[in-house]
Amino acid sequence: MYDVLKIREDFPILGREVYGKPLIYLDNGATTQKPKCVVESIVNEYYSVNANVHRGVHFLSQQATELHEASRETVRKFINAKSINEIVFTRGTTESINLIASTFADSQMNEGDEVIVSAMEHHSNIVPWQLQAAKKGIKLRVIPISDKGEILMDEYKKLFSEHTKLVSVVHVSNVLGTINPVKEIVEIAHANGVPVLIDGAQSVPHMKVDMQEIGADFFAFSGHKIYGPTGIGVLYGKEEWLDKLPPYQGGGEMIQNVSFEKTTFNVLPYKFEAGTPDYIGSTALAKALDYVSEIGIENISAYEDGLTKYAMKRLYEIPDMRIFGEAAHKGGVISFLVGNIHHLDMGTLLDRLGIAVRTGHHCAEPLMRRFGIEGTVRASLGMYNTKEEIDSLVEGIDRVRKMF
Ligand code: PLP
Repeated sequence: MYDVLKIREDFPILGREVYGKPLIYLDNGATTQKPKCVVESIVNEYYSVNANVHRGVHFLSQQATELHEASRETVRKFINAKSINEIVFTRGTTESINLIASTFADSQMNEGDEVIVSAMEHHSNIVPWQLQAAKKGIKLRVIPISDKGEILMDEYKKLFSEHTKLVSVVHVSNVLGTINPVKEIVEIAHANGVPVLIDGAQSVPHMKVDMQEIGADFFAFSGHKIYGPTGIGVLYGKEEWLDKLPPYQGGGEMIQNVSFEKTTFNVLPYKFEAGTPDYIGSTALAKALDYVSEIGIENISAYEDGLTKYAMKRLYEIPDMRIFGEAAHKGGVISFLVGNIHHLDMGTLLDRLGIAVRTGHHCAEPLMRRFGIEGTVRASLGMYNTKEEIDSLVEGIDRVRKMF
């Protein structure tokens, strides 16, 4: 039995009011709220364990190191990676993708080589490749999508050539909600001898992701989108690939021996973790993952799926409603426009009713261009949202519509 009211009690912020109205938080795609256990983990570790990890012989340093490394194991288990050597802590999805873009292009790509991305990528899976394109003369090839917001698989297959060196696509679109068939995408790439990076920022918080089942070579996600703290995220990489890639940044932690003549690098995953890691954040991220696991990611998935279907149905009752993203497999991200009402006006007026939605291009300007629009209003769901909140959203939108 999924007890959403009990879950909500774990998130103090959900009890607050804005403009004298109960907060309805529908901006989970941008970031999620934090349960008490995550915030308490941060406070407790600072108050009772805090010491720099890996380097100290003293008690606190060893205890902090144990917590940090136990968190790596929690992440490994959560995404079913084979080994903790495949789990690199980063600042988030953006840094994880930049790490691969930089080290992969440096070591595996030459002028004229190509990376395949899709038309629905977040800027963080476009711009890092463009930075490399400017440096190394590599090119981006873009998989087109249908009007419903689904990747055109036949077009995808046609993009492979001897120049293709990597496929880098999003798992779940942060605008359309489309759940891409990543396993199939990986199989096709591998049949062409090409490795794959998956941007899992919007999938990991909402569905079971299994590294060994998906088979991708790299996978990125952010802690703050899965009820964890800001500033920490994960890069998963198959060991054989991470071994092949050069370090991303230099400094402490990532070295074995340093002299002025020559430096040898640390073993995986530390080779990619220069400097003091966010060990407070890793413990809190592990707490968030444990919290999600206790409720059950499959239960969350099923609940959110029901809520998404309910929201789609109710939103379509509003006259002049246009929803962008009608894929057969769709997560709880709903982008829309109503009549000629500007997305910013809609967002601002909903805010006055206590409803937090996002407006704009959602860091996916090329996707906006694909649909011939400047931006949308986006409601993105989390495990604690309710049908009543969806009803309030629908009422709010209708009120704004009548005002115009
Ligand atoms: N990729 C997708 C699909 C996203 O939705 C986001 C954030 O909204 C990102 C990447 C970037 O995540 P972060 O800002 O946590 O690095």
